[in-house]
Amino acid sequence: IVGREWHKQDSIVDIKGIKLGGNQIQIIAGPCSVETQPQMDAAAKFVHEAGCRLMRGGAFKPRTSPYAFQGHGEEGLVMFRKAAERYNLPMVTELMDARQLDTFMKHDVDVIQIGTRSMQNFDLLKEVGTINKPVILKRGMSATISEWLMAAEYIAAGGNHNIIFCERGIRTFETYYRNVLDVTAIPVLKKETHLPVIVDPSHAGGKAWMVPALSRAAIAAGADGLLVEMHPTPCEAWCDADQALTPDELKTLMGSLGAIAGAI
Ligand code: PEP
Ligand code: MN
Repeated sequence: IVGREWHKQDSIVDIKGIKLGGNQIQIIAGPCSVETQPQMDAAAKFVHEAGCRLMRGGAFKPRTSPYAFQGHGEEGLVMFRKAAERYNLPMVTELMDARQLDTFMKHDVDVIQIGTRSMQNFDLLKEVGTINKPVILKRGMSATISEWLMAAEYIAAGGNHNIIFCERGIRTFETYYRNVLDVTAIPVLKKETHLPVIVDPSHAGGKAWMVPALSRAAIAAGADGLLVEMHPTPCEAWCDADQALTPDELKTLMGSLGAIAGAI
């Protein structure tokens, strides 16, 4: 279903009237995690002011250490909704466990993110295949392109074709940066699938100063959008502080993307 051979034209995913795919690029921005109501209120204002039309933020966090902040859970979804609705920003947030799906539906989460660690959680994929919410499917950090395509196929097979692929960097021998942004995956995915492809430059580089260059590379290579971490005060972020853009940096980045998108 996700293959280009079945559907020649680019598919466009509609998120509450906001179109992603085809020639329509969307930048999704926001903090790594939902921390406090004031933090989310400020973040929503900055996302809106930068010109982004969708907001991200994690309420259920897949942390490497079980002792690290795990996210506020359902309470985080409530804070997120309150902040995002002021600016009409659809909310993008990660679902880690199929048992939380009812909670996500109850709070009418607009876009469900499947994280890199869950890309091959087939039962989770099957569950999000049964609903009609758009799904961002991140690439497993060690997944091949064909494994990634097949993961999307699990979702599509259930009837949900609103799938957005997200390249977020893969594991290699290099340790200078958090992951290696696989720019090559962008044209390859665009060839193999009709579905939109976005890039997360934040988890790829792992450092805020790398994000603008990786973002520009992604858009130049044909990505349909970005998923970017931005925090009102990055040095105070509870999670992924090193890679969060400041509100001003997000604004500058947004200003630089138009020319690149216009040139291709
Ligand atoms: C995230 O976007 O919040 C996240 C945890 O990313 P990834 O699954 O790519 O590590
Ligand atoms: Mn993060």
